[in-house]
Amino acid sequence: MRQTSLVPEFVVTVPEKLEPGKLYVSTRFRTASHLCACGCGNKVVTPLKPAKWHLTVENGLVSLSPSIGSWQLPCKSHYWITKNKVVWSRVFSEDEIKEVLERDAKDLHDYYADRQASRAKRKILARLWAWLRHK
Ligand SMILES: [Zn+2]
Repeated sequence: MRQTSLVPEFVVTVPEKLEPGKLYVSTRFRTASHLCACGCGNKVVTPLKPAKWHLTVENGLVSLSPSIGSWQLPCKSHYWITKNKVVWSRVFSEDEIKEVLERDAKDLHDYYADRQASRAKRKILARLWAWLRHK
């Protein structure tokens, strides 16, 4: 049965067995898990970190962005979790799924490349600063 809403449950560790209709949020392990809202019984794990998912809590209502696309599951479910509501989105075609997966991989790559670049920049600045101070 398709879920129309997910109730957040804030936990330290996500339990082994999940209950349908619940979104388990572990802020310590920065992850959210739920059973696929289509009712297929598959576990959907969404890491809460940059270039992955972003969780917002507003008056006890949770929203996840971007959308949940279970392309790896047979059901290929695609939906948004907005203020505890499951907002169903259309199913993507194989080509669209490929495109999304490629974009995700690129985002992730860019994010870490950016981080590495700014770390290198900081190192150079620190060295320059140390050199200036010793002049
Ligand atoms: Zn499903």
